[in-house]
Amino acid sequence: MSKRPIMLIVFIHDDLKGSNEDQLYIDQFDWLADTIARISGRTTEVTFVQPSDAPALSSLDYKTDDLDDLFESLEAGLSKYISSDKSAIHDNSIYKYLLLTRDHINKKTLGVAYSPGHLGIASVDPIGTPAHEFGHMFNAKHPDSGEIMTYWGPRKSIMYATAERDVALSFSSKNQENIRNYLNQYD
Ligand SMILES: [Zn+2]
Repeated sequence: MSKRPIMLIVFIHDDLKGSNEDQLYIDQFDWLADTIARISGRTTEVTFVQPSDAPALSSLDYKTDDLDDLFESLEAGLSKYISSDKSAIHDNSIYKYLLLTRDHINKKTLGVAYSPGHLGIASVDPIGTPAHEFGHMFNAKHPDSGEIMTYWGPRKSIMYATAERDVALSFSSKNQENIRNYLNQYD
């Protein structure tokens, strides 16, 4: 039997309405889906959910200093979506959910996610923040972020704790191992 596929469900917040989805996909998720697929040996797909299909999430007032409260709102919005007739959740896949926003949550927080877990939120700015939060959901860790040798020289990897504009869109080998180990718990 083949391994269960991975579905990365990305909810578009109202403040990103009208964004070019093809560009969003290329900038933020293309390499991520490829990388997770390669690490895990599982089919990995990204699905965008339009604001009108998940209004409790797309209209969420996410700018706050209270992250516990934010997670409660995210959970509530996700439950509403899953039980709605718009839900794309229908099979035995492994699902990870991310609310994608234009702005940051607060001055220090660009995104946040369960680590590991099924749910998070991330700004599109800087590029790499959504992938960083998905990384947390797959149990990738800040202390294992390390440096990656790139064409341009050494760069911080994607799980580096502080957002940097020239971060490499890549997981360190230690974090690839963390992700593989995490996913091995599933069929
Ligand atoms: Zn982080």
